[in-house]
Amino acid sequence: MSINNKERRNEKDIILKIRGLTIEFRVTRGILRAVDNVDLDVYKGEILGLAGESGCGKSVLAHAILNLVDPNGYIKSGQILFKQNDEYIDILSLSNEELRKFRWDKISIVFQGAMSSFNPVIKIKDHFIDTVKDHESNKNEEEIVKIAKKLLKDFRLDEQVINLYPHEMSGGMRQRALASLSFILNPEFIILDEPTTALDVLTQKFIIKLLREIHEKTGLTMLFITHDLATLAEITDRMAIMYLGNIVEIGTVRQIFYDPKHPYTKALLQAIPSITKPLEDLNPLPGPVPDPLNPPSGCKFHPRCPLRFKACSESRPKLIDLGDGHLVACHLYKRN
Ligand code: SF4
Repeated sequence: MSINNKERRNEKDIILKIRGLTIEFRVTRGILRAVDNVDLDVYKGEILGLAGESGCGKSVLAHAILNLVDPNGYIKSGQILFKQNDEYIDILSLSNEELRKFRWDKISIVFQGAMSSFNPVIKIKDHFIDTVKDHESNKNEEEIVKIAKKLLKDFRLDEQVINLYPHEMSGGMRQRALASLSFILNPEFIILDEPTTALDVLTQKFIIKLLREIHEKTGLTMLFITHDLATLAEITDRMAIMYLGNIVEIGTVRQIFYDPKHPYTKALLQAIPSITKPLEDLNPLPGPVPDPLNPPSGCKFHPRCPLRFKACSESRPKLIDLGDGHLVACHLYKRN
């Protein structure tokens, strides 16, 4: 069951603290800073949404929680603290062996595009068996298959799916099989990286409903990443909005949709197409996305912001709490 806003602001309920996280990539034209000095708290038992345009750094940030960064990238600075037995461990300081045990067991991840997450030459059944045996080597295979079938059934897949190879399944089936696999070790925290993007609308709706039901039944903490704000409104308790590697606003779904503060969040919401309004009423975001290798000075949104003023190009606004847990990084606002 979700915890309420009052409890959520309690420091002791924070299960994951990200502090000062900066991630860079070496690319042909230079150094690209994909995540720029990010602080983020995730509270136990909540579903936190992470949204922003493609390339804003949301997937890079989410993957880094498991210390997963592409080979041309590196974590330049920061801490990722996960609460275990009332103490925080820094995931970035775990050895490879500790990290191997930690992944799937404490935090699991459903990557975007299930096909590339499965080994194409082994059956679904063996993905479940290998994952469990990697953590609990004595576990009986029959028992693993029994749990796997139950999980597949929860995601409305026939238990015979367990004997299929990934290429023998449709995209929707693979995505659901991958989501089932992510639950096999009963993790405390699950990262869902655009889990519904490649699916048809009906399967999307079904998966969202199912994840919500699982969350209500188990109280599992989830981080849900998508560029689709409407999907986040359906499933999340709170949302964080990212722009060019920075988190610019964090609030409850109600705060973000009914009382957005940051001009970028407002622009994103105005760009959502409406089925009741003519297409001409659509307000695309102003101006092009800046070159991430040469981001604008000060507030990175300032070249596109209709409310910019002198200070905006001179200094980067910090994420401040406006009260009630609504945080914004914009010079228009003062800390409460
Ligand atoms: Fe706009 Fe300035 Fe706020 Fe940036 S800091 S969003 S440029 S008003």
